[in-house]
Amino acid sequence: MSKIEVESFISNVLRELSIQEGVPVPKWTWRVLLGIAMFNKRTKVIEIREFTVLNAWRKDAERTKRYLRHVLAHEFYHYLVEIGKASVKPRLLIERDCDLYAMKYSGLSESEISELKRRPLTPDFVEEWR
Ligand SMILES: [Zn+2]
Repeated sequence: MSKIEVESFISNVLRELSIQEGVPVPKWTWRVLLGIAMFNKRTKVIEIREFTVLNAWRKDAERTKRYLRHVLAHEFYHYLVEIGKASVKPRLLIERDCDLYAMKYSGLSESEISELKRRPLTPDFVEEWR
């Protein structure tokens, strides 16, 4: 596994989503985070937890890709809201919209997502790998 492979996967997913929505491609960066990913409203950059993603990819690339597509689409929807391409709502409703958008894009059901999420992408998993 090379880090470049993971990085191009992430960039390709974001490019695909941007083409689909007709918007500029959002920037993203690796970051030390508590969660797997987040959209930073201040910098307008999608931040992704490097350690977890790289380890998960090393362990099971296919599974990590499926889950990452979902995670990236979720954060991408936050970006759409930020740039005025999706409607602004109270926080919990936005999170729900992000999840629905991500499910549609990744083609994963809620139960598949919780299964993929369980391992190897949890922080516990990271601790095991340190
Ligand atoms: Zn969210």
